[in-house]
Amino acid sequence: MYSLSTSLIEVNGIGEKAFSNFSEKNVRTVRDLLLSLPLHYIDRSQIGQIADLNLEKEITFVAEVTSTSNFYRRPRSIQSATVKDETGRIKLMWFNNKFILNKLKKGESFLFSGKLNKKGSIVHPQVEDIASDSIHTGRIVPVYSSTFGIQIGKIRRILKEIIDNLEIDEKCDLSQLVPSLEKLKNVLTFLHYPETQDQVVKARERLALEELLILIEKSNYIKSEWQNLKTEEKPNKLELSDNDLIPTSVPFTLTSAQLRSVKEIVADIKTSVPMNRLLIGDVGSGKTVVAGIAAYHLINQGLSVALVAPTKILASQHVQTLQNLFPQTPIFHLTVGSKLDLSLPGLYVGTHGVVNRFEKIKPSLIIYDEQHRFGVGHRSKSFDLEKKAHLLTMTATPIPRSLMLTIFSHLELSVIDEMPAGRKPTQTFITSEKKRHDAYDWLHKLLEEEPTRQIIIVCPFIEPSTHESFSGVSNVMDKYQELTKYFKKKAKIEMLHGRMKKKEQEGITDNLFAGKIDILVTTPIVEVGVDLPTATVIVIENAERFGLASLHQLRGRVGRRGQQGYCLLFSKSKADTTKKRLKIFSEETNGMKLAEFDLQNRGAGDIFGMSQSGMDNLKFANWANIELISGARRIYNDINKENKKLSNKSKEKWESLLIKKEDYKDNLPLAN
Ligand code: ADP
Ligand code: MG
Repeated sequence: MYSLSTSLIEVNGIGEKAFSNFSEKNVRTVRDLLLSLPLHYIDRSQIGQIADLNLEKEITFVAEVTSTSNFYRRPRSIQSATVKDETGRIKLMWFNNKFILNKLKKGESFLFSGKLNKKGSIVHPQVEDIASDSIHTGRIVPVYSSTFGIQIGKIRRILKEIIDNLEIDEKCDLSQLVPSLEKLKNVLTFLHYPETQDQVVKARERLALEELLILIEKSNYIKSEWQNLKTEEKPNKLELSDNDLIPTSVPFTLTSAQLRSVKEIVADIKTSVPMNRLLIGDVGSGKTVVAGIAAYHLINQGLSVALVAPTKILASQHVQTLQNLFPQTPIFHLTVGSKLDLSLPGLYVGTHGVVNRFEKIKPSLIIYDEQHRFGVGHRSKSFDLEKKAHLLTMTATPIPRSLMLTIFSHLELSVIDEMPAGRKPTQTFITSEKKRHDAYDWLHKLLEEEPTRQIIIVCPFIEPSTHESFSGVSNVMDKYQELTKYFKKKAKIEMLHGRMKKKEQEGITDNLFAGKIDILVTTPIVEVGVDLPTATVIVIENAERFGLASLHQLRGRVGRRGQQGYCLLFSKSKADTTKKRLKIFSEETNGMKLAEFDLQNRGAGDIFGMSQSGMDNLKFANWANIELISGARRIYNDINKENKKLSNKSKEKWESLLIKKEDYKDNLPLAN
C-alpha cells in the first residue's frame, strides 16, 4: 500500500532512472506525481470493430494479427501489420519502432486504438494486451507531460499501480471537513483513470476548490501577519503636506483616478505599518507616474525605492520616462554587473535581479510592475526585508471583485479607471489574408504621411517551427524577410527577439526609441508595458494564438500619445469561436469588458482543450471561475465557523490537506 507521502522510489515499476527523472522535476512522492495532472485526455472509450473505423474519431477494437513486415525507406524503418476481425481487415503502420513486431505475433489478438488516415490505414495505433482493465486503450486515456523524459505509457502504468494501491489518511481528505464532497481517493482515480469525461471535470473542480480554499486561508494568514507588523524603527514614514503632493515637474495634469490613487498610496506610506497595495489600471492609464510620485517623495527624504520590472526593455524605459518626469531625482538602472553604490538614496530600477540587492538598497518602498508576469521564486528571498518595506504592485490585469475579497483580501486596492484626456481608442481590424498586400501598402502610406510613425509586427514564434502542427504559425525570421522584400528600401525594418545577443537587443531598442526604426518585427515580448510614444500600428499575426488579455496588452502599445492607433489582426483560424472572439475584441476597447467576456466563455469543459487563463499561477483553478471562487468562500466561512471552538486544530487541518500553502510560497502572485 502507498500513502500520499510514500517516496516514488518505493513504487513498483519505478527504478533508479525513472526516479531520478521525476526528482529532477521536483516530483518525489506519490502526492507529487498524483498532482502532476495530465495535459489532456484522449477519448478512446469508443469500442468498435474494424468496419467502424473512420477519419475523425479514435476507435478501440480487438483484432487478430494475420501478417507483419519490416522494411526500410531511408532514413527510417517502417513496420507494418495486417489485422482482422469478423468485419474486415486493416493495415497498421509504425515508423522506427522495431519492438512492436516482437509483440505482434501472428495469430494472436490485441486491443488496437486509432483512426484511419486518408490512405485507409492506421499510423501508430496504440496496442495493448487484452485484459480486463486496459490502460492505454478502450477508455479515456490521460496524456502526461513529456518533460519527465519517461514514456507516457510508462507513466500511465505507474499511476495505475499507485491508484490501485493507494490508501489515503483521512485527515488529508477535504471531504472530512466538507462531507458533501467526493472522497479524495475517488477524485484522484477520476483524474488519472477516468471512466467518463464528467469524472475528469468533477475531479478537476474538486482540486480547484481545495486550491482556492488553501489560497483563501493563506491570504487571511498574510493579512493578520501584516496587521501585526509594525516596523520597529520608522525610517519609512513619509512627512508630506497636501500642497506638495504632485511635483511641479510632472508635465501633465493627473486624471482624478490617478490623483485618488496617489493620495491613497501616500496616506499609506505616511504611517509606519507597511503598505501592501495593488494598483490596477488598464494599459495606458498611467500607473507609472503614480508609483513614481510616491517614490519621488520618499527619495526626497533620503530614502531609497526599488522598482522591479518584468523585462530589461521595460526597466530601461522606466529609467528614461521617470527621469523625464522627475529630473532632480537620482534614478539608477541596475543591471547584472553594475557596480553602483547601492547605499545612496535613489530609485533603483531593474529586472527581478534587483530583489537580490534589497539587502544593500534597503528600499523603503518596493514597486513591482506587471506582477503577473513574474515567474517562480522572484519574490520571497528577501521576505523579511520586504515585510518592512512598503509594497506596491502594478498590474493591468483586471481582477474580479470576488477574487479581491477572497484570495487577495490581504491587499489594499487602488484603481485607475479612467484614461488620460485625449486618448483615442485604438481602431482594430480583422484583416483577411487576401488583403495582406493592401494592408502593407496602407502601412507604407502611413509611414510616408508621417515619418515619425512606428509600426510593430508581432509573431508568435522566433524561428520556423520544425513541429508539424505549428507549420502555419508566423515567425519573426520569415516575417522579417518577407517585409524586407516587400518594402525594399522604403522603410527601415528591424527584428527584436529573445534569442538575439544582449548587445544586439540593446542596440535595436535604443534605435527604436531614437526613432531610427520604422517597422519592428518581434515576438510578444513587447507586450509587457513598453511605452513607445510614436507607435501607431500594431500588426498581430496568428491572433488566434493569443488570449484576449494578451491581445489587449499588445494593442495597448500603440496610440499612447493621443495619436490615432491601429491594430491589425491576421488569423487563418476558421473556428467559429475564434472568429467570434476576435470580432468581439475588434469592437470592444475596454479591458474589463474583455475580461468579462473571457469569463463567460470559459467553463469546466475547457479542461479537454487545455486552455490557460491570463494569470497562470494557479495549478488547478481558473482565476476566471467566479462561481467556484464564491463557492470556495462560502465553504471556507462554514469550515471556520465550525472550527471556532477548536481553533488550533483548525490550523492543523488546513495544513494536512492534499494541497498545501507551501505549494504557493513562490509563485502566488501578489501574495507576499
Ligand atoms: P501604464 O498604466 O500602461 O503603465 P504608463 O504609465 O506607461 O501606462 O502611461 C502611458 C502614457 O501616458 C505615458 O506616456 C505617460 O507619460 C502618459 N500619461 C500618464 N498619465 C497622463 C496624464 N494624466 N495625462 C497625459 N498623459 C499621461
Ligand atoms: Mg506600465
